[in-house]
Amino acid sequence: MASAIVRPLWGLCNLLLDFALPPSCAGCGEIIDEVGAFCPECWRKLEWLGNSGCQRCGLPLAGTEAEVCGRCLAAPPKLDRIRAAVAYEEIPRSVALRLKYGRKVALARTMARYMAPLKGEWGDKTIIMPVPLHRWRLWRRGFNQSALVASELSRQWALPVARHALRRVKQTKPLKGLNHSQRRKAVAGAFTMRDPFAVKDKIVVLIDDVLTSGSTAEACARSLRKAGASRVELICWARVVRPSQLMR
Ligand SMILES: [Zn+2]
Ligand SMILES: [Zn+2]
Repeated sequence: MASAIVRPLWGLCNLLLDFALPPSCAGCGEIIDEVGAFCPECWRKLEWLGNSGCQRCGLPLAGTEAEVCGRCLAAPPKLDRIRAAVAYEEIPRSVALRLKYGRKVALARTMARYMAPLKGEWGDKTIIMPVPLHRWRLWRRGFNQSALVASELSRQWALPVARHALRRVKQTKPLKGLNHSQRRKAVAGAFTMRDPFAVKDKIVVLIDDVLTSGSTAEACARSLRKAGASRVELICWARVVRPSQLMR
């Protein structure tokens, strides 16, 4: 039980330490002027995605495609829109891993800083929702990295966060190496609504750190839609853009 208290405290110490030290690049650690930013060299190495690509799934469009890609036209995904700040390459991966496993909680602010410009024209019936962790994983890690990012975005976008409306009831094994239908099966029934009224007729903006195949977010979207959400979008820090990376 003690570790449940020590772990969040450890994160807090890390955060305080990050504020006490001069600002450093979130990629390489080089001293820079701004807190939570990247040095020019790391900045150049990042593949910024923003609002580009398919207006539904966010993946790069082929030359002949208009606003929505052929895959989404043929089989519309459960998510109405997916966007990510950057492509999942070496630096974004390291940022995500240091936040999650290195407890560098200040990096949640870095992620949010670059995700904030992806705000849509959602209107006031909009809520932000971090992709939930299973309670065992939350207990082991001490925090949900996506919830930290969601809190930061909530402040910047002036939108409420629904932290507990959706619950992860199934602990899923890592989806690495599975194909699309195996991933879908693995996350089926992983989420249930704890508070369906919180999402009824709302636009729900799911927040996650990394998007690989999208199966987890799709499973969330399925539950949210069933509970009456009018639209479900996903905004994440980094996403796998090339399908070849999925099997890694
Ligand atoms: Zn750097
Ligand atoms: Zn698409």
